[in-house]
Parts: sequence; C-alpha cells; structure tokens
Amino acid sequence: MSRETIVAGNWKLNKTVGETRQLIRELRNRLAGIDSAATVIVCPPTVALETAVDAARDTGIAVGAQNVYWETSGAFTGEVSPAMLEAVGVEYVLIGHSERRTIFGETDEDVNRKLHAVLRSDLTPVICLGESLGQREAGETEAVVRSQLGAGLEGVAPDHAGRLIIAYEPIWAIGTGKTATPEMVNDVHRLIRRTIADMFGGLAADGMSLLYGGSVKPENARSLMAEGDIDGVLVGGASLKNESFAEIVRAAP
Ligand code: PEP
Repeated sequence: MSRETIVAGNWKLNKTVGETRQLIRELRNRLAGIDSAATVIVCPPTVALETAVDAARDTGIAVGAQNVYWETSGAFTGEVSPAMLEAVGVEYVLIGHSERRTIFGETDEDVNRKLHAVLRSDLTPVICLGESLGQREAGETEAVVRSQLGAGLEGVAPDHAGRLIIAYEPIWAIGTGKTATPEMVNDVHRLIRRTIADMFGGLAADGMSLLYGGSVKPENARSLMAEGDIDGVLVGGASLKNESFAEIVRAAP
C-alpha cells in the first residue's frame, strides 16, 4: 500500500527568528523547482514557530515543533502545550527525540503522556525512538525498540494509531556522520511495523509512515528511501542548509 513520504527537518537549537524566515523563503524557491510528492516539514525552535508558519503559508511546507508538554496550562515554567502550538498554526510535533531523552531525562512514560496530550489535539505526533551504540553492540536493538514502542504508545486507541508517525533514530547515528545502512534500517522498520501490527492491527501498520533519522545527507537519502519500509527521513544537520535539504527532498520517491 502507498504511504505518505515525509522529509522532515529538525533544526534543533539553531536559527533565530530572522534566519528562520529567510531559510523558509529560500527553501520555498528551491522546492518550486523540484517535482516531489513528499510532505516537507520543518521544525524550528519554539520562538520561531509563528514566523515559520507565516513564511511557509501557501508554500506546501508544513511546520512542526521539536517538543511539547502534556499539561494544558498552569505552573509549568518553560513549557508549551499542544493547544499553544496549534494556535500558531503548527501541524506536527516531535516527541521523545533522543536528545530530549539523553540530555533532558525524558522517559518512555513522559513520551506516553506527551503522546496522549497531542492526540487530544489536532497535531500529528512524530514519535522518535532508537537504540544506543552499546545496546546495538549488545544485540539489544529489537528489545529496546519493542519496549520503547510498548511503553511510549501504551493506551493509544486503535482508531488513533492512523495518526502516528514513527521516526527510528539510532542514537549512534545522530550527528555522528555514521549512517545505518539502508538494509539495517529497513530491518528495524520491519520490526516496528510488525510490533505496530501486534498492537493496533495490520491496517494501521501498513498505513503508518516510518521515518529514518541519523546523519541523512543528499548522498545517502535516495538509497535509504528506496527501501520498502523506509517512508521518509528526519534530518538534523543537513536540514540547516537549503542546498542539502532540498536535495534530500529531490531524492524522495
Ligand atoms: C536528528 O536530530 O533527528 C538527526 C537525525 O540529526 P542528524 O541528521 O544531524 O544526525
């Protein structure tokens, strides 16, 4: 079955409001010359989201946030709710990026609470997961991925499963220049799809877009997205320059 192809850029802690506006304007011009059916998403820092939505209007580029909190309002200094993101026109949100997990101590339970809050809104969640180098070398990839899926997606109603996007991002490949081979990624994606089928049924599994993230560049994007179970990519470093990000979009099938 045909699934949505997605090319998403995670800008992390990069780009001011002014730079965001400029980058999106330039990206729009570059994408105008590319024939691609991929959904293109950019995830700038929180303070630049409103500007990003404004700059991306009528361009076909969607805007995502890098993080969200599960509460709606109250004494939660520094946090942002799903409703606040929606109010500025954000459509997607990353949940559980490995940097949130390793640097800020987010657990699978936090991911699960965020996911439920997002599913109560109209935002589309992109749930990030993946193993560390030590876990891969110890042969624990399958157990780690299954456990992150089980705990992170616990309690999600089967009729909400169609709204989920999952990004497999092995920690050892993020920002390191080490890319997992397309075959390696496809194997894990098949495992994710089987696990999703066990949890929510085959239809949900077949229709779910599974993204890969970890040192994706124009040079490896095409071979990654040529694999049957890799439906798109989540790009960090290479999304900060339009030359490389647009080439990755061009590589999407
Ligand atoms: C990411 O931050 O999600 C990511 C995959 O980063 P990079 O492409 O730089 O490895």
